[in-house]
Amino acid sequence: MTGPRQIAVEPLLIDQDTLPAAGLILDRHRVPVLCGEPIPIDGDRAPTLCGLPVTIGPRPAEVLPGIPATHVADCVDCIAIIEGRDIDRTDDPDTVVRLFLRRTGTMPVHIVELTVVELDRELPTALTAGCGQRFRAGDSHDRLDPGDGAPCIRCLLNTVRTTRPEISGTPSDTP
Ligand SMILES: [Zn+2]
Ligand SMILES: [Zn+2]
Repeated sequence: MTGPRQIAVEPLLIDQDTLPAAGLILDRHRVPVLCGEPIPIDGDRAPTLCGLPVTIGPRPAEVLPGIPATHVADCVDCIAIIEGRDIDRTDDPDTVVRLFLRRTGTMPVHIVELTVVELDRELPTALTAGCGQRFRAGDSHDRLDPGDGAPCIRCLLNTVRTTRPEISGTPSDTP
């Protein structure tokens, strides 16, 4: 299917169900669409938050030949990213902690990453979110809990890249 795509006027997360690597429960991933980007339509390839390339479309009807797909579970990696949990947390002093900040009166929740060491010291006077937004001391903002509010998708994507353990660059060699 081709045709003009709608442009996202605000950041979106699209649900996309895919066949599981194992088992009979479909995986529900989230596909991020940034503000101003075309909204993918059926047949488009797009990466999920957790980094999996998927084809947009209706959920598979069968999980295995003859076995209808009746159950769906959220992809834990996508959810972890939305909620800002690190996938592999360690006690390393370089461990990155995330602050969730929203300018008072605005929608998107921006993510600021600091190392534990930076947090122990005095907070810098200006914090830069993953998308480049700067929060200065004295700016009016709310601090939110992980998972609250509508995340700034640009922040999500940028912070995923820095905190996620290296995903091996080679495509999985399982068939
Ligand atoms: Zn996922
Ligand atoms: Zn942001």
